[in-house]
Amino acid sequence: QEVEAMAHAGEPAITLDGVPVPVYANANSPEDVRKSQEVGADGVGLLRTEYLFRSRATPPTVEEQQETYACFLEQVRRLLTVRALDAGGDKPVEFVPLGPENNPFLGLRGIRLLLARPELLRDQWLALQQAAASLGSGQAARASDKEIRFMLPMVSTVDEVKAARSILEPLAGEFPRIKLGIMIEVPSAALMADALAPLVDFFSIGTNDLSQYVLASDRTNSRVAQLADPLHPAVLHLIQRTCQAANGAGKPVSVCGEIAGDPTAVPLLLGLGVAELSVPLPAVPLVKQVIRRWTLSRCRELAETALRCASALEVRNLLAQES
Ligand code: PEP
Ligand code: MG
Repeated sequence: QEVEAMAHAGEPAITLDGVPVPVYANANSPEDVRKSQEVGADGVGLLRTEYLFRSRATPPTVEEQQETYACFLEQVRRLLTVRALDAGGDKPVEFVPLGPENNPFLGLRGIRLLLARPELLRDQWLALQQAAASLGSGQAARASDKEIRFMLPMVSTVDEVKAARSILEPLAGEFPRIKLGIMIEVPSAALMADALAPLVDFFSIGTNDLSQYVLASDRTNSRVAQLADPLHPAVLHLIQRTCQAANGAGKPVSVCGEIAGDPTAVPLLLGLGVAELSVPLPAVPLVKQVIRRWTLSRCRELAETALRCASALEVRNLLAQES
């Protein structure tokens, strides 16, 4: 199956009833971005930029970031999603001393930190704008054909999005338009998805964090981490709700948590209304192959059944029967 999947990796993933599903790669390093086309990814759906900021005494300059993003824009097939620095929680960054926190996962992380240090947010946005502008005018790299997204992590309120927009919008004028979106990885954001959708260009559901917050179990604590199962029906209901809000507003919605790379979970996610997937690099070919074997209407039936399950185990048993 893997060999067959690899043989078709470069072809688009289209369901049996004709619905194309973009499959992007998650990238944690320049190496991942470079390999994304080789494995057949339609682009990079999540660039975790923390690696650029880690282990250094000062943040990277705008110029340094611009060069990096410009290089990545050349390497991706048709989309690059740069996630704004997601420091805090499980991702410490040395030059931002957070002080002792009793609950780092509930602390100053993601957009909360970026709003406290707006120059970090501004510099990343400017660097991406300039990368897009510099490539857009060159003839070699057809970067102007590529979609560029900038994504805010750890959003929990509508006001955070408004505050971020008021920082970024004044700087957006002269450069090619970059789509601004948010991660849905906090329960309050999923529950408020209807109010958030009109404020952004896209959603990306971070099921890794969403499940730890929904089930109140630290994803890094081995004694409870198994409780944070992204296939728990409580998480599935929030994914469905988020997708309804996005689809209703005509905004793209993806899942970029690890579960999107699990071939047995892919039909369920599509059935819940997820339109795009961003998956760990090695999972791309198989995920595309699975999409080609299902109709969207059968995915929807599967999702209806899963939403009636009472536990993650019941959902997992259901998926095992189907695959
Ligand atoms: C997530 O939370 O699902 C996610 C994709 O982000 P990260 O794993 O980097 O927190
Ligand atoms: Mg996350």
